[in-house]
Amino acid sequence: MDIAADSNQKESFIPFALPCIGEEEIEAVVSTMRSGWLTTGPKTQEFEQAFGKAVGAKHALAVNSATGGLHLALEAAGVGPEDFVLTPTWTFTATAEVTRYLGGHPVFVDVEADTLNIDVKQLERRIVELKRTHGTKLKAIAPVHFGGQACEMDAILQLAEAHSLMVIEDAAHAFPTSVVSRGVQDTERRRRTIGTVGHASVFSFYATKTIATGEGGMVTTEDARLADRIRLMRLHGISRDVWNRYTSTKPSWYYEVVAPGYKYNLTDIASAIGLAQLAKVQSFQDRREAIARQYHSAFAAHPALEIPRQRYPNDTHAWHLYVLRLNLERLSIDRERFIREMAQRGVGCSVHFIPLHLHPYWRERYKLDPEMFPVASREFERVVSLPIYPSMNDVAVQRVIETVFEVVGVFAL
Ligand SMILES: *Cc1c(COP(=O)(O)O)cnc(C)c1O
Repeated sequence: MDIAADSNQKESFIPFALPCIGEEEIEAVVSTMRSGWLTTGPKTQEFEQAFGKAVGAKHALAVNSATGGLHLALEAAGVGPEDFVLTPTWTFTATAEVTRYLGGHPVFVDVEADTLNIDVKQLERRIVELKRTHGTKLKAIAPVHFGGQACEMDAILQLAEAHSLMVIEDAAHAFPTSVVSRGVQDTERRRRTIGTVGHASVFSFYATKTIATGEGGMVTTEDARLADRIRLMRLHGISRDVWNRYTSTKPSWYYEVVAPGYKYNLTDIASAIGLAQLAKVQSFQDRREAIARQYHSAFAAHPALEIPRQRYPNDTHAWHLYVLRLNLERLSIDRERFIREMAQRGVGCSVHFIPLHLHPYWRERYKLDPEMFPVASREFERVVSLPIYPSMNDVAVQRVIETVFEVVGVFAL
């Protein structure tokens, strides 16, 4: 049973997010600690193999965060000083900051109103413009599968191919997520799992994500060249992993530094948690989907509320987030007050995301204006993320629903 779920969900505060940690995870950590191997070693290797198998990817490389993974993937994709990487404004700052680590520039694109994923028409416009003004300095697209719903990957891959761009997916929300290629009859044959679609995909195991190791991440790719570069750069540019270093026939003290690498390796302690979480991923996913369905049917008809839209019902939605939108013209309060009223009644909510063009650093560095991103600027005012995690029982889900109705009831116009 989940540790945190022991608390009485009838009365206690329902937090916005909680990792689902059971005895399996605790035992896995204890046994790893007893094994004497704490950092990257056999458990990490096992976790990589199991995760790679779960998404069907040829190469899976464990890292200590998705941020580190995105940095490594863009570096391996050849992004360098003064290069450009296209990314949606509707994301967490990590997606964009890694381009700055490499001396490049993120180029922000507005999102589509229904999915809040990168707008492919705007994306194409920006690509054509940048190709004209900066030619080969435009290197990559970093789409984000917001909340666990896949982007328009067919269109994005087509654009990438036409303009020789790398596609590095921010898949922090997208485990497990799948896309069905459009315009093809046999759905199952054309289903592809996120993690095998773009040139590389980067997953997060941060405490709030769909599987959690505290901090952690995974990069998957089909491309051996990318995998080799990421493997090298995630551990100081040392030509072999620690594990190989201690088991190969070379003297155990011997290694070679061939590049100025980073320190992004995942520990065996985290990997042990990851393996235990991975074994439960389907039941986690089923539970989140069931909660999403309960929310949908409760809120769909209410004039003050708008439920998240799933554009393609055949795609697998990871439901990392449940983003409700408020019809503000029907309410006498704003989103901020709505969240405060929810909290006062014992339900934690959050906001995903504050679009990057509204943050001081990005706004000032790239002279960004809300009018340049009309959809994101408008939708930001009315999004509320509701709790959605497997350890929520039906009582808790019902309490969230009733609390939403209570607040919109009190403040309805
Ligand atoms: C959580 C998150 C990240 C960063 O993940 P870490 O593992 O914490 O580095 C990146 N992008 C998005 C969209 C996220 O939600």
